[in-house]
Amino acid sequence: MDRLISMCKQRGFVFPSSEIYGGLNSCWDYGPLGVELKRNVKEAWWFANVQLRDDVVGADTSILMHPDVWKASGHLANFTDPLVDCKACKRRYRADHLITDDCPECGGELTEARQFNLMFKTFLGPVEEDAAVVYLRPETAQGIFVDFKLVQSATRLRLPFGIAQIGKSFRNEVTPGNFIFRTREFEQMELEFFVADQDADQWFDRWVENRWNWYLSLGVDPTKLRRRPHGHDELAHYAKACIDLEYLFPFGWQEVEGIAHRSNYDLKQHIEHSGKDLSFFDDRTNERLVPTVVESSAGVDRALLTFLVNAWVEEEERVVLKLHPRLAPIKVAVFPLQKKPELQEMAQRILRNLRYSWKVTYDESGSIGRRYRRQDEIGTPYCVTVDFDSLEDGAVTIRNRDTMAQERVSVEGLTQYFSERLQWRPTSE
Ligand code: ATP
Repeated sequence: MDRLISMCKQRGFVFPSSEIYGGLNSCWDYGPLGVELKRNVKEAWWFANVQLRDDVVGADTSILMHPDVWKASGHLANFTDPLVDCKACKRRYRADHLITDDCPECGGELTEARQFNLMFKTFLGPVEEDAAVVYLRPETAQGIFVDFKLVQSATRLRLPFGIAQIGKSFRNEVTPGNFIFRTREFEQMELEFFVADQDADQWFDRWVENRWNWYLSLGVDPTKLRRRPHGHDELAHYAKACIDLEYLFPFGWQEVEGIAHRSNYDLKQHIEHSGKDLSFFDDRTNERLVPTVVESSAGVDRALLTFLVNAWVEEEERVVLKLHPRLAPIKVAVFPLQKKPELQEMAQRILRNLRYSWKVTYDESGSIGRRYRRQDEIGTPYCVTVDFDSLEDGAVTIRNRDTMAQERVSVEGLTQYFSERLQWRPTSE
């Protein structure tokens, strides 16, 4: 993990935030490669869950919402973690994460648990008074619930249908850590799928399957992914079922995503608190109902960390990031064999042509072997080398990241060659 974190910093995936000021606990910045990888994770999610489906549409709701939203959703009263302090060394822990009754660090005595609300508070406008208090959303889902009727009327979708959203969420976590695994500012990819109650169990199973397949289709090792059903004591009182998809990180099995059968609790709460009708009239059955929700809630940063850890391979000769090509920040690197104008010119021409289709890069410094290693380490699936023969035969050498095999391909055929190899087709219902 330490080596991965240091590679992430060196190569420009993830940096500590505000580093020149000593950093800010649990806050991270994505650098040039990290931002590409993150976009690819989000786009792959959107592609599978929105673009390929007739029954899901997107939304992008605001981070600040009316404070009553959080009263209705129960977050103001219940979105808390039990916090304990060590009386000796003053360290803080989440009581539900401890396995012993004493402080794990120094063995000291712990205080009684206090409930600590995880929502960040701020003020709308210049006056810091109670009436102006607003919260940074701790999940994107509530934006979807409060817009349910607006989206439904605008699209005239009938049940079952879903609304998807990707966006920032904030939680004032007691114990953030493990790099980007648990932070106080993070991004979520959430899908709220609205169904008639009698269909909910079946849709729950289907979404667990869909989401499982999404990770596998992007190269996640199935022996390191598992479904963990929540026990009854873990379930929110309104939830009927919840399954976490967990990945075996270097720090153990941890949740990457949760799929939950949320009953119709959220919509009902918003109906009660807003006084607005958020029910759905099904003109096929002449029935009016408050839909049940099946939710899939994934963290962008956690998914990204999963893909990074899963792809990281230390071989004898090299370190390779075997990222799925759909996720790789850079798809192709183009090299002139030497710094000779005719080779540079041809390589640049190839680069300019390919970049209309993919994120590509150019490198002419150091030996070819060194250049391959640099690309291996950041997960670039293909390298293209222009050599002296290329000037004669119009062909280049393509080298494969995983197999290290090389083949000669004509320059005219390059776009086709990469189109075939870089396309990604997730299983779709
Ligand atoms: P935990 O019990 O680990 O605090 P949770 O069960 O409260 O997490 P959810 O509310 O189900 O988490 O959030 C859905 C998803 O959002 C999680 O599976 C995770 O991928 C992501 N997520 C939640 N909290 C964080 C965080 N602090 N940092 C990064 N990602 C997060």
